[in-house]
Amino acid sequence: MIALCDLTAHEALDLLRSGEITSVALTASALDRILAVDNDVCAYLTLTPEQALAEASAADALRRAGQDLPLLGIPVAFKDNLSTRGIPTSCGSRMLDGYVPPYDATVVRRVKEAGAVVLGKTNMDAFAMGSSTENSAFFPTHNPWDLARVPGGSSGGSAAAVAAGEALLALGSDTGGSVRQPAALCGVVGVRPTYGLCSRYGLIAFASSLDQVGPVARDVTDAALLLGVIAGHDPADSTSRLDSGSDYTAYLARKDLAGLRVGVLQSHPEDGIQAEVADATRRALKTLRDLGAELVDVSLPHGVYALSTYYLIAPAEASANLARFDGVRYGFRAAADTVEALFSRARGAGFGPEVKRRIMLGTYALSAGYYEAFYIQAQKVRTLIRADFDAAFEAVDVIVGPTSPTTAFMLGERVADPLEMYRADALTLSQALAGIPAISVPCGFDAAGLPVGLQITAPEMQELRMLQVAFAFEQATDWHRRRPSLIESS
Ligand code: GLN
Repeated sequence: MIALCDLTAHEALDLLRSGEITSVALTASALDRILAVDNDVCAYLTLTPEQALAEASAADALRRAGQDLPLLGIPVAFKDNLSTRGIPTSCGSRMLDGYVPPYDATVVRRVKEAGAVVLGKTNMDAFAMGSSTENSAFFPTHNPWDLARVPGGSSGGSAAAVAAGEALLALGSDTGGSVRQPAALCGVVGVRPTYGLCSRYGLIAFASSLDQVGPVARDVTDAALLLGVIAGHDPADSTSRLDSGSDYTAYLARKDLAGLRVGVLQSHPEDGIQAEVADATRRALKTLRDLGAELVDVSLPHGVYALSTYYLIAPAEASANLARFDGVRYGFRAAADTVEALFSRARGAGFGPEVKRRIMLGTYALSAGYYEAFYIQAQKVRTLIRADFDAAFEAVDVIVGPTSPTTAFMLGERVADPLEMYRADALTLSQALAGIPAISVPCGFDAAGLPVGLQITAPEMQELRMLQVAFAFEQATDWHRRRPSLIESS
């Protein structure tokens, strides 16, 4: 029997609207699931059960009074780098352990104003640096499809929670792939929006020219619903776009994909694409062709430089952003006699090894004598990558390929090899550098029963087109309906 927490948000909203279920029952079901599986999955860093039940009963009261809102009564989770008023926000790091923000991030406020019930904060790689959630200072999250494997990262907690029925929806953040890659590895839907579509106000900064908040959901309709809630201009974020999105859910359905030109990238051997991922992608492309799309080969000649470009720009920005964590104003504090010692002890003990590696890489890339050769050069290549996409989108409407080169890897497998870990995002970095939207949707399973994700990339602000293609693919397949077996035994 399917539990209420296994419904998609749009299915749950139908039942809430018809009065067949209450938000209290729905929220209690998600909390029961958390109790049953989170000792194993470890998706959450902080839970707010009493508050959630109180919000659920307030949502039910509003509904009885005849009110409706886009997410009224739907239990959601937030990645722990999104500021939540009164709820601890650690960013997965000791540096912010115990920090309780005095305000909500704009996206959090919008989700709350849309009537959602907050279940808690999800685990992540510290400061969103990582691809497996193993860089969390607290504990790793486990993949619900196989507890010995990683859920991906850095939004691994959000993806695992949604996959395991521990939340109906979640927000993550994507700097170079951190929503799409864990969504792919956990068999759920993840969206990276156009840079500037969703406010970054209250998102703890990693690399400000790349960071975007994005939805994690169990199907495309739910992702579109949540994206519609969080998108839109915010005067508190100077990089927020003035043009906002549209009502994505209202226009999702297209009868077929006739006339749609789908760009297919030739993969490079150095991408290291697992054979089963390549097979699932080929079958997905055939499905799109059967739906009427025309497949066109495209190339992004500078795509091979995406990894090196990203690992100069992102650490450079991170080294500047993280300078504010001095152990004085918030979070971790170290005992010391001098201010100098206070700073260095707090930063030495508060930051984990990956964060320190990024700060050193970034400081190096920005230092006198190296700035031109590394940082400026990377910015130039970033422009070329963006130009590659502009050229490709003259000939095609969307570009389709795998989200992640491999399915979920084993916990511990890549921790000793940072470059191997960085390669997990080889296929998601270019879109981030170009500032354009991309979605990951489930498109198959490997022989071990692990999910494979298909990535659909669209031009700037073409979220609706991207979601329509994803929706048409989803309607023609049933990969998104499979659930991890852990759920049945819970
Ligand atoms: N894995 C990439 C990194 O470690 C991307 C992370 C992200 O998107 N936040 O930087």
